[in-house]
Amino acid sequence: MRVLLPVAASTAAALALAALALLWAVRQSDEISTERQQRTTERSIRAIVGELAKQQEMVAVWNETVLELRKVPLDEKWLDANIGRWLHVTFGQDRTYILNARNEPVDVTIDGARAATEEFEKVRPSFEWLIQGLRGDAQSSHYGHSERPVDENYLTSGRAVHDAHLLELQGRPAAVSAMKIVPENDDIAQEPGSEFLLVSVRFLDGSFLRQLSQQNLIEGLRFSQVNEAGGGEVGVPLRSDEGNLIGYFIWRPELPGTTILRVISPSIAVVCVLIIGVMTLLARSLRRSMAKLRKAIAELRASEAQAHHLAFHDVLTGLPNRALFDDNLDRTLAGAGPEEPLAVLMLDLDRFKHVNDTLGHHAGDCVVREFGQRLFGLLRGSDIIARLGGDEFAIVLTGITGRDDVETICARILDAVRQPFDVAGRQAFVGVSIGVALAPDAGSERIDLMRKADIALYQAKAEGRDAYRIFTAVMDETVKVRSMIEEELRAALVTGNDLRLFYQPQVDVGGQSITGLEALVRWNHPTRGMIAPNQFIPIAEETGLISPLGEWVLRQACLASKRWPDLTIAVNLSPVQFRSGDLAQRLIGIVSETGADPRRVEFEITESLLLDDSDLSRSVLKMLRQEGFKIALDDFGTGYSSLSYLRRFEVDKIKIDRSFVRHLGEQNESVAIVTAIVSLCRAMGLTVTAEGVETEDQKTFLSQTGCNEMQGFLFSRALPEEQITDLLGGLGNMLSVQGTAMPALSVSHSDQGTSRARKALA
Ligand code: C2E
Ligand code: CA
Ligand code: CA
Repeated sequence: MRVLLPVAASTAAALALAALALLWAVRQSDEISTERQQRTTERSIRAIVGELAKQQEMVAVWNETVLELRKVPLDEKWLDANIGRWLHVTFGQDRTYILNARNEPVDVTIDGARAATEEFEKVRPSFEWLIQGLRGDAQSSHYGHSERPVDENYLTSGRAVHDAHLLELQGRPAAVSAMKIVPENDDIAQEPGSEFLLVSVRFLDGSFLRQLSQQNLIEGLRFSQVNEAGGGEVGVPLRSDEGNLIGYFIWRPELPGTTILRVISPSIAVVCVLIIGVMTLLARSLRRSMAKLRKAIAELRASEAQAHHLAFHDVLTGLPNRALFDDNLDRTLAGAGPEEPLAVLMLDLDRFKHVNDTLGHHAGDCVVREFGQRLFGLLRGSDIIARLGGDEFAIVLTGITGRDDVETICARILDAVRQPFDVAGRQAFVGVSIGVALAPDAGSERIDLMRKADIALYQAKAEGRDAYRIFTAVMDETVKVRSMIEEELRAALVTGNDLRLFYQPQVDVGGQSITGLEALVRWNHPTRGMIAPNQFIPIAEETGLISPLGEWVLRQACLASKRWPDLTIAVNLSPVQFRSGDLAQRLIGIVSETGADPRRVEFEITESLLLDDSDLSRSVLKMLRQEGFKIALDDFGTGYSSLSYLRRFEVDKIKIDRSFVRHLGEQNESVAIVTAIVSLCRAMGLTVTAEGVETEDQKTFLSQTGCNEMQGFLFSRALPEEQITDLLGGLGNMLSVQGTAMPALSVSHSDQGTSRARKALA
């Protein structure tokens, strides 16, 4: 419209202007033409008077006429041929009257035919004043009225004495001229006052009208006593010389402008139609282009919106992504009052990797999507929920009244996730760990809150998963300590100065002698003092430092073992170490470098490694066994493994976790479990070692049950290398365990065992 309207308007304006100019020109030219015709007509009418006199002069100022009129009787033939008839034929004079000196008519010609002289009497009254005037004023010559146009063509010569007028004669407009008949020269004498008069009449509505119409190319010229000019006609009033209105000459004037207009108007119409057509076409094509443009813009907007959505949403779940979450949280925090409680939840699926590994990535995607939907169903519209990536989600709870609300929601989330996920006809079980940071207690900055929720999440995971933890300042402290430990452990590994290996003897039940030593790492921190492995091994595992640490331990153990060639050296391997593909080669390399005997080296692995059920760890174990190394399953009974794994992984030894040993004599199920484990392992031909033996009763029970080896404070704590040498050398292999007899422990086959144990026995 912004383009079309001005163009259309200016075109219309230009056309209108052109039309106005044309009409103006047409009118102008019509007016000029009409005016010209009027003028010409008027002039012709006026001229006829002078013309009449000039015609008269030809016969009235002539010696011959004077002589002819002196004859008695008059020669009618001559008069016809030279005056009356002649003037009629030659000039179209309608009437001629010849009067003698007494003003009596002597010759009358009407319409070219001789008429009776009495005819003059009918018109005498109209001429009387004219005749008297001429007779009275001998000097009167030419025109009596100054307003008459003076035209060279109609000037009579000096000898002519006449008077001419326009007047109404018998109801008709007429030009009348009276002239004295005088000799042309002085050859003939003429007594003044004795002259004959020639009176000529030319009616203006008869042949004169036709002649005028032909001469001036005026169509439809007529005379009327009243102005009856119709549409498109003009009327010119005709007045007598006295000023009396005689009548009107009326005609349809020639209108050249109108004629031109009539001629060119079809062309103009065609041009207008063409212009309008072009304009219409232009408008249409413009409209089409505009529609296309509008469509393109709409599409562009849509794709922009889509791109915007993609940029801020997770494709898999359709939930906001991290960027949008950050933005929303910032906004919520900015909008909330300083005391308004708000909770930031970080969620991480447990065992998600297991779902991906066993059921495939598609199943993993399904679980994530379904999890997102379940979360969405649990929350209110005002809460913010986002997928941060992988199996990580985040939630912001607003409008909460306090801790209780958050705990209720967390419990609901845990519940919802415990329900099995249906994926491709199979069921997947996952859990979720949740870390919570509460504002304003834990802070009011997004980054701070998210970091703290992360710490709480870490805590939840570290404390057994499938749980929620709300951030406390202690956790932060723990985190700080952890990161410090990480740094210092890294440094300690470079020098190796503060790290030491201790060795705990393993005792043969039957022979009552030391059969092996378990290498246990110690960190003698320069400022913190002795740090227990339980405090830094998990950190080493998280940070990947466990690999160099584990290799350091193996090297030291192998070197030391050469001093005790009869004993087996047990070295702990973390499941994290198995993640590097070349673990077996590296271990084999270290052992061979130190020159230790692989058959005397035992690797302790944990159940979680078997739980992963990966081909990688299985092949590593296989290679190690092929090299002659022994494999012991550490902390047996604490994980979720089952004995069926043992067959697949082919271990040499089971180490019953010390938690079972500790409760022997207190809890009947421990007795049952230990008895069952021992008998099963013996049936499978595995060696059984009991850990954490602290009392004689425990020792007695275990040896009676059929345990092969024992390890515990009852025999010895972990000792530095020199003390082990002392122990072995000084006391010989005389570590007798002579204690008091252990009372027989009744073996109850209670089915009240812990779920862990039950699972283990499954
Ligand atoms: P673990 O492999 O189960 O090692 C046995 C732990 O039980 C040792 O604790 C040992 O001192 C303790 N212990 C032995 N007898 C008794 C007893 O009668 N009663 C009690 N209450 N405890 C007893 P430590 O040395 O603190 O090691 C703790 C854990 O640290 C180890 O548990 C092991 O999992 C890990 N660890 C230690 N050294 C290494 C290592 O070099 N590499 C790896 N990967 N892990 C290590
Ligand atoms: Ca161990
Ligand atoms: Ca153990």
